[in-house]
Amino acid sequence: MIKTFLHGRLESSTFSLQKQLLAIFLLLICFSSLLFAQEPISYHPLGEWRIITSDFGYRDNPFGKSREWEFHKGIDLDVDIGDSVFAWRSGVVTFTGSNKTSGNMIQITHEGGFISKYHHLSSIDASKGDFVAGGQFIGRAGATGRVTGPHLHFTIILNNEAIDPEPYLRKVHLANSSNQHILVEKPVTIYKHISLRTFPVNGKVTIDGENMGNSPLDTRLSYGEHFVEIDAGDAYEPFVARLWVDQKFNRIYTARLQPKKDSNRAKSGASGK
Ligand SMILES: [Zn+2]
Repeated sequence: MIKTFLHGRLESSTFSLQKQLLAIFLLLICFSSLLFAQEPISYHPLGEWRIITSDFGYRDNPFGKSREWEFHKGIDLDVDIGDSVFAWRSGVVTFTGSNKTSGNMIQITHEGGFISKYHHLSSIDASKGDFVAGGQFIGRAGATGRVTGPHLHFTIILNNEAIDPEPYLRKVHLANSSNQHILVEKPVTIYKHISLRTFPVNGKVTIDGENMGNSPLDTRLSYGEHFVEIDAGDAYEPFVARLWVDQKFNRIYTARLQPKKDSNRAKSGASGK
């Protein structure tokens, strides 16, 4: 009787020990999957940090004849024509082609509902249906499509909605160095890149008294306050503004030019009363 009882206890304790071990084992699996469940490895599409010349989100449409706003579904990255473009993450090329707006473009579909797009390319070096590894060379940057200069328009889509790619580009693997995990931060420089846009006209631009050339103008300005003057000719009022350049300033600066004939018309209308 006692023997049976002991035997029974022994059995149940062994069983509970097994259960505990199983529970610990399952917990370990859960924890390890939590600890090691990594985001797919991301690469910078240009292999290194680049200046963002136009941010994600609403912006003054640089192509509009009047003040128009458009939603910029990606970011524009500073390039030289011919710069190598790399796949952001591994995936399958689901579109390559060309149109008037995007120029030559590549679309890659990744796991997890992500899609990346690369616009304005000078060459497409991947084909629809290709499996590409993250950081793999897919084409060359250019200035095809609706552009004001060479840049890579880079888009990330998550579950059919465009999201800001910048946070994803802050932590990336450098292309061509697959074993190195390097945190790429914005380089600390004393200059910021600025594009002055004066559509639809060109004009002479002076900054801090120095003649910088004609707009559209790409230049690098040191941090601090700048005095900007645009002389767009007889048809426009001289544009004068103060521009503050700080570490966060890396977007296009759009000057708003006032046509002279409009103010004349307003004046003559007022005086004709
Ligand atoms: Zn763009």
